[in-house]
Amino acid sequence: MDAVLRPVTDTDPTATEDKKLPNRPSRAEAEAAARVLLQWIGDDPEREGLLDTPKRVIKAYEDLFSGYKEDPREHLERTFEEVGGYNDIVLLKDISFTSFCEHHVLPFTGKAHIAYYPDHAVVGLSKIARVVDIYARRLQTQEHLTVQIATALEKYLAPRGVAVMIEAEHQCMSMRGIQKQGVSTLTNRFSGVFEDNVSEQVRFMTMVRS
Ligand code: ZN
Repeated sequence: MDAVLRPVTDTDPTATEDKKLPNRPSRAEAEAAARVLLQWIGDDPEREGLLDTPKRVIKAYEDLFSGYKEDPREHLERTFEEVGGYNDIVLLKDISFTSFCEHHVLPFTGKAHIAYYPDHAVVGLSKIARVVDIYARRLQTQEHLTVQIATALEKYLAPRGVAVMIEAEHQCMSMRGIQKQGVSTLTNRFSGVFEDNVSEQVRFMTMVRS
């Protein structure tokens, strides 16, 4: 199979979010902020067990929020046109992810189910899972995450349709606030044939649940 680089000339839907922030604080400033938080909760950042904690927190943040540095385009623009006549649904289900809610910076974890109908090209399956991670490793709402994944696939694969379903549990609901455990939040986004044809949505749902 020969990979094809399709030129995408118009604006990247995620471009504004991918932009480097001009006033980004230094690592030392970020660590100092983490130290302030430790003090604010009532602990002593000078005690032995906490001495290196600000450093570790910032290192963990770097990893958990690495999605800001990545552009889904790099993973989706390499497509394969030789698909042996395959033109049916391509479904990836149970793509597990962890993201952080933008309201409390607490994790929400769950699964994404993603389908598309290829038009002229398909993309490597791991790339789709990769796109989920790129958007999940940013501060998010589940709704926004759902739309961003679908929009990136629409834009770079130009398929006949995209379906994205995300189910997740939000720690900000189970650990704090109303403290309800096991509540699953479901979000969907359909475009193209999935949006136009309810039976395609049903087919997608049935395949996800099978
Ligand atoms: Zn929250």
